[in-house]
Amino acid sequence: MDGKALAQRVREQVAREVAELDHPVGLATVLVGEDPASAVYVRNKQSACREAGIEPFHHELSADTTQHELLGLVAELNADERVTGILVQLPLPEVIDEDAVIRAIDPVKDVDGFHPANAGFLVQGRPTLLPATPAGIMELLREYKVSLSGARALVIGRSNIVGKPIALLLLGESATVTIAHSRTRDLEALAREADVLVAAVGRAGMVTQEMLKPGATVIDVGINRVEGRVVGDVAEDAREVAGLLTPVPGGVGPMTIAMLLKNTLQAARYQARTLAFPLG
Ligand code: NAD
Repeated sequence: MDGKALAQRVREQVAREVAELDHPVGLATVLVGEDPASAVYVRNKQSACREAGIEPFHHELSADTTQHELLGLVAELNADERVTGILVQLPLPEVIDEDAVIRAIDPVKDVDGFHPANAGFLVQGRPTLLPATPAGIMELLREYKVSLSGARALVIGRSNIVGKPIALLLLGESATVTIAHSRTRDLEALAREADVLVAAVGRAGMVTQEMLKPGATVIDVGINRVEGRVVGDVAEDAREVAGLLTPVPGGVGPMTIAMLLKNTLQAARYQARTLAFPLG
């Protein structure tokens, strides 16, 4: 499954819709500290914004920023009408309570979809702003017309940013969903039954060819650095057995940024009131 090509199409569509929208669309990114990987992610998000006609507002805070200071900035961004989306890059330094910061973001500007209000709407089957990676996976499954109703889906990983939300989205499409995690027994047997398998663990090659049901759709979310190469959670030879498979790189990764832009547009629509946000 070509995530790169689909992401490009989504980005072009977002750019067209941003240009047509009679409301500013702006994404504030907040980076605390000097984690090099986070700095790269934020830079990529900003340049993707610019390309789509979304105004980027970047805030870089030093590693010794207090929680109070960060919450102050979030409050300012909540009040700023030019800022229609807010993204605080995670992870935050340990002294800062990540959950408190996420809770402080206005849910209508929560383009990461991590606020408990947006997570709660998803649980209730009323999706609002969705976490970008799971939203991108659903877009790929739709594009490739993967049949989900009644299908057996196995999600490996139970994080709040990937595992849980993708499990809920698959459930929303009437798949029969199993969530596996580090304490799961006999993962192999569960995997062999899966028509759709999502691997979101962060362990190179943990899903092997032998574990797959022939013809299964395999979504590889993992990003692992092995001997200078980026590889996924799914072993390379799995493609011989899978029906459809997302490559790493070039599968889920590019979709994540595209969906962030789509979320930023959607958040601007909520604020322009051309789309109703369920919290009013
Ligand atoms: P996480 O560390 O929060 O969660 C990993 C999950 O894997 C946990 O729920 C854990 O229970 C499960 N797990 C660990 N060992 C296991 C085992 N042996 N068997 C079964 N389950 C096991 O990770 P995350 O944030 O959800 O990310 C997962 C992977 O996806 C990472 O490699 C991350 O880099 C990648 N990721 C990619 C994108 C993207 O855009 N492509 C976005 C987010 C995360």
